[in-house]
Formats: sequence, C-alpha cells, structure tokens
Amino acid sequence: MKLTPALLPRLIEAIADVIEKNAEEVTALDQAIGDGDHVTNLQRGIQALMAQREELSRLDWAAAWQKIGMTLMSAIGGASGSLYGTLFIALSKAAREQSLDLQSFADVFTKGVEAVKQRGKADAGEKTMLDVYIPVADYLRTAAENSVALPEVLANISQVAIAGMESTRDMVATKGRASFLEERSRGHIDAGAKTGQLMICAIVDVLTKQLTTPA
Ligand code: ADP
Ligand code: MG
Repeated sequence: MKLTPALLPRLIEAIADVIEKNAEEVTALDQAIGDGDHVTNLQRGIQALMAQREELSRLDWAAAWQKIGMTLMSAIGGASGSLYGTLFIALSKAAREQSLDLQSFADVFTKGVEAVKQRGKADAGEKTMLDVYIPVADYLRTAAENSVALPEVLANISQVAIAGMESTRDMVATKGRASFLEERSRGHIDAGAKTGQLMICAIVDVLTKQLTTPA
C-alpha cells in the first residue's frame, strides 16, 4: 500500500464523520472536567481542512502537513489549536519522502508527538490527548522494528488507541483546564484523548479498506 497525500481527502472526510457522530458524547466529557468547547474547537479545524482537502491531496507530505498545521493553528486557536498545529508542523519538518512506509511513518509520528510534549510541557499520565498519541507512537516504532505485517499493525493501533483513551479515566489531570479540579478530575475520560482515539480509529479504518480493496 502506498501512503501518499492522495489519501488525505478520504482521511479528512472519515475524521469529520466520526467526530460529528460522537460530538454529543465528547462534549459531555469536556463539560464534566473542562469548558465543553473541545468538539466545537476541533470541528472548526476539520471544516477548514475539508475546504482544502483536494488541494492538500496534490501536495507532497511535507507541504501537506505544513499546510494542515497552519490551518489547524489558525482555525482552532487556543491551547488545543497550538498543540494540533505543533504536531503537524513537526511532521512536516520530519517528512523526507513522498511515500511513507511503516518505518518512516513511525519515525515521523514520534517526532510529532515529541513536539507536542514539549509544546504542552506534558507527558504520559497527565490525562491528555498524549495518553493516546504516546502509546500509539511507541507501538508504531516497536511494530516497525519487528517488521510486523501491516494488517496486524493497523488492527493493533486501534487497540492501543482505545486502551490509551480508557487509561485517562482513572488519571488525575495535571495539565489543561481539567487540572483545576485536581482529584475530582478522576473518573472521567479526557475529551482530547477521546477525539484522538476516534480520529486514529477512523484513519485505521480507511487504511484497512485501502489495503483490502486497492484503488
Ligand atoms: P481548551 O483547553 O483551550 O479549552 P480544548 O477544549 O479544545 O482546549 O482541548 C482540551 C484538550 O486538550 C484536553 O482534553 C487535553 O486532551 C488537551 N490538553 C490540554 N492541555 C494539554 C497539554 N498541556 N498537553 C497536551 N494536551 C493537552
Ligand atoms: Mg476546552
């Protein structure tokens, strides 16, 4: 399977769809321990990407990720806009090839996640989106090192993302608005971890279909 930016329109559409379908549930999560605006923020970014999706599909990865990062930063704004923007701009800086394989994507994605950690001064275990993105990056590197077959990698990524999202339930938030609640933040899934998991699972579904029915 060739991972090229030609896939971007389908990926962006799938992400828009899954966030729309789960909007109420995620909003309830963010209302419990945040300010309830996470889905609206994210959807502003996704709508801006929907408008650019054909244009993005004609760029190379470095240019596409750069554009996605800039778009998310300006369309979403605020704390999470700068985190998503940082992720994609770091992907862009790390991207070397036009077509990615598992090894190169694992390296690029790891650099993106490292940049988000620095930007948010956060790490695993702080009840944020990073509790999904860090284990997924770790798994991608392990899978690449062990030459795990792609269908198996895709199935496992979804499981890792779901486990990461679930793990935030019992954590106490130490970053972001939820940290103001201290011990009372325990018992709720983090909204940014939930949307991260939903988006990753949507991407995996598109790639799995692509694998079984190549264009
Ligand atoms: P805001 O916090 O500005 O209202 P959102 O509601 O859009 O932004 O996003 C909140 C999400 O951002 C949280 O659920 C959490 O996953 C994530 N988050 C908050 N602070 C950090 C941080 N320092 N590092 C990584 N992710 C963070
Ligand atoms: Mg919020």
